[in-house]
Amino acid sequence: MKQNDAILISSQVLQVSYNYSAGPVVSKFLVSLRDQKKILGIKCDKCGIVYVPPRATCGKCFSEMKQWVELSGRGRIETFTSVHYPEPVQPRGGPFILAVIKLDGSDTGLTHLVGEAEEKDLTIGTKLEAVFQENRTGHILDIKYFRPCRD
Ligand SMILES: [Zn+2]
Repeated sequence: MKQNDAILISSQVLQVSYNYSAGPVVSKFLVSLRDQKKILGIKCDKCGIVYVPPRATCGKCFSEMKQWVELSGRGRIETFTSVHYPEPVQPRGGPFILAVIKLDGSDTGLTHLVGEAEEKDLTIGTKLEAVFQENRTGHILDIKYFRPCRD
């Protein structure tokens, strides 16, 4: 390319419809949400870290993990934000609250919606509980949202 050549930039919207396999580990997690309204984590036998959502390999020691742990569905807010605008990649139009929730018995954060609360009601450490959808399909949004614990 010569130095005087113009570089044009054009904007386009790329939409791709696709299917993917959740794999055996995440599939087990999603089926448990759908069929039993239970949130499962997976624990590393070597270093003891419990991951939610689960993954096949420990991010710290790279061991393959197979020890499933059933969690209560309760936890505390690690951080949160309020979203006020719609984006195609977001689970719903704004406004809504997204939080990273460290479930009791887990060592990692699960990012999910917070419902039945306003931003002013929340702080780091607010205790939340999972609320499940009536009709579940094997999707992370089978957990409708987390709400502040009522007890
Ligand atoms: Zn490990």
